[in-house]
Amino acid sequence: MITRVIRNTEVIRTLRPNTRMTTPTGRSSAIASIAGRTPTGQSVNFHDESPKQVFGSNTFSLPVMKEMLKPATYDSMVKTVKEGQKLSETIADEVADAMCRWAVAKGATHYAHVFYPLTGLTAEKHDSFYEPGSFGNEAISKFKGKVLIQGEPDASSFPNGGIRATHRARGYTAWDPTSPAYILESANGTTLCIPTSFVSWTGEALDTKTPVLKSMQALDKQARRILKLFGHKEIAHVSATAGPEQEYFLVDKTFYYSRPDLLAAGRTLFGAPPPKGQEFEDHYFGVIPERVLAFMAEVDRELYKLGIPSKTRHNEVAPGQFEIAPLFESANVAADHQQLIMTVLKRVADHHGMVCILHEKPFAGVNGSGKHVNWSLGNATQGNLLDPGDTPHDNAQFLVFAGAVIRAVDKFAPLLRAVVASAGNDHRLGANEAPPAIISVYLGDQLADVFEQIKGGGATSSRQRGTLHIGVDVLPPLPKDAGDRNRTSPFAFTGNRFEFRAVGSNQTIGTALSALNTILTDSLDYVAGKLEGATDLNAAIQSVLKEIMDHHGRVIFNGNGYSEEWHAEAAKRGLPNLKTTADALSAYTSHDVVEVFEKYGVLSHDELHSRYEIAAEQYVKQINVEAKVVEEVAQTKIYPIASAYAGSLADSAAKLKAAGLPVATGTLAKVAALVSELETELNVLRDAHGAAAEVSDWTFKVLPAMLAVRKSVDALEGILPDDAWPLPTYQEMLFIK
Ligand code: ADP
Ligand code: MG
Repeated sequence: MITRVIRNTEVIRTLRPNTRMTTPTGRSSAIASIAGRTPTGQSVNFHDESPKQVFGSNTFSLPVMKEMLKPATYDSMVKTVKEGQKLSETIADEVADAMCRWAVAKGATHYAHVFYPLTGLTAEKHDSFYEPGSFGNEAISKFKGKVLIQGEPDASSFPNGGIRATHRARGYTAWDPTSPAYILESANGTTLCIPTSFVSWTGEALDTKTPVLKSMQALDKQARRILKLFGHKEIAHVSATAGPEQEYFLVDKTFYYSRPDLLAAGRTLFGAPPPKGQEFEDHYFGVIPERVLAFMAEVDRELYKLGIPSKTRHNEVAPGQFEIAPLFESANVAADHQQLIMTVLKRVADHHGMVCILHEKPFAGVNGSGKHVNWSLGNATQGNLLDPGDTPHDNAQFLVFAGAVIRAVDKFAPLLRAVVASAGNDHRLGANEAPPAIISVYLGDQLADVFEQIKGGGATSSRQRGTLHIGVDVLPPLPKDAGDRNRTSPFAFTGNRFEFRAVGSNQTIGTALSALNTILTDSLDYVAGKLEGATDLNAAIQSVLKEIMDHHGRVIFNGNGYSEEWHAEAAKRGLPNLKTTADALSAYTSHDVVEVFEKYGVLSHDELHSRYEIAAEQYVKQINVEAKVVEEVAQTKIYPIASAYAGSLADSAAKLKAAGLPVATGTLAKVAALVSELETELNVLRDAHGAAAEVSDWTFKVLPAMLAVRKSVDALEGILPDDAWPLPTYQEMLFIK
């Protein structure tokens, strides 16, 4: 792998004089030095240090608290963490003291309130535990309960979508005791990280965590109302649960740094398709390359330390694409851990001389990356409330919860499309690889049949799962699932949970989770209202479920979501098909959405409006950067070498002609035509870019103009001398590991 990298830089160094754009010093020697760098990835040895020993070693977990806190304080923390009860403020000093001692013993010098601003990123402000005087005496005085509970970062640099004027910069971070504090290690020290909510001085949420917490609280209340109807005496706190599957690409750093588009925009804006793509379907679940496996082992170890239950890892569909999935956790913790997973993936990739690319569509024509968010709800007494058991038709409680989900998704489909809308995800949704932009629910054969029976008047049977006989005597018969899988659905029932597949690989799952929790809360409230006070509970359940099927059954679709027929059928059913971010974002502030978020105290009108503003702003900013990169690369890298090449072909042709030899001018004609096309398309792009005002201008004018430039550039890539081409190719980036 290193040989190829070095060859690549030599190529740049030995560009023929008439095609050389820059002196081969500067950038190319930087590339050479990166290429020559010895990987610093640590070797991971789970034999001497078992995952069990490592797991959670860097988290201020309940077992640690049990050891360090007074029994009463510990009990109070357990009640908050496990049962969602209000934290007693009187214990904060003791918890802060224990946390500080624990962290300092682990070498921490600083602490940070970690929060999740609306840009979808993770933010942290580090403060030292030490202050003047504390080096001389033993005491580290500053870390009191007050400091643990509340921080005050300057909020003015974080987007607020019009919530407050810039001069009113005050914002607060508030400790979330339900998400464990942890130690983040870096080469030069360790930091105690405290997960927090981030709110403005006037109390509005400026982050993605606050609404997750509020929506979980609302969901708990309504879910318990339903459980009470089923006669349960003991009903524990109900929590939404989430297990996200993260897809990502790994690219050698050397290539990454030679691609201004990857560097600035996170995706390639040029690149002809490689001779070999993913058509052999040989990458999915294929043998993981050794270099990648070393990376994955280190990722696992880092995640284990942070108490993140990383569980599966494998190759994905595209070359160079991989997936990681942790075990599911309470939705709030899962969302925090998901942010950490993205951070760890990026950091560890760097140790191994690679870059982890989280963009939804880094390579055109190659499978994109999503984040499948598996989602359910449950508690310690009744278990997973979306577990159908073997005979779902007579599991009324399950049917009520599943029916409520169906209603919620149909009623709020535009919202679910809005929360996954972004410039990156637009390239994925609706292309034949990811779910279409039409939100539908896949139930599988068994459940779809049960709900059809309900619609017809009552469910009396469930199709059974059966056994699969392989026909080889030594292989045991396998129990078969009652339903198949369907990769084409944006929202699929997968046995005991729903999987929201439309979420983008780069997005924070908190946004999707708050929406899911809130709309399910609304449905459960609705159903509970219909059932409470009914004299015949079963009859009332049948009636409300039938009503849900009559009004919302249209959202159920078990067929191929990629097909043309589905688009036609969905239109007939009246399902929205919001193809782009420009179409989708307005759902944030639609009447229905505002009403439901306000009713359950999750987000106010202003907070929703700010989310709309920020999402739109991010979208425009992203395309603006992309357009600038296209203009710059096409003008300063591609145009010079292409026109120089045309010139050298013309020179040779003239010389051949003068010598009375046969002259072939086909290539010259093609290059000259493409260079002229490139210039024209570039001008069209500059005009569209300069004139873009509305969000839709960026979608329907700037993006197509960028694509037209790309078309000429990609065509030139197929004609120009390989050693003159300035950008690493798709072939190199995707296949060289
Ligand atoms: P797939 O077969 O869909 O690729 P994976 O095993 O990669 O499945 O991921 C499935 C994810 O679903 C895991 O994160 C798993 O923990 C999660 N999951 C399982 N049960 C639940 C549940 N009750 N609530 C939320 N997530 C769940
Ligand atoms: Mg999945």
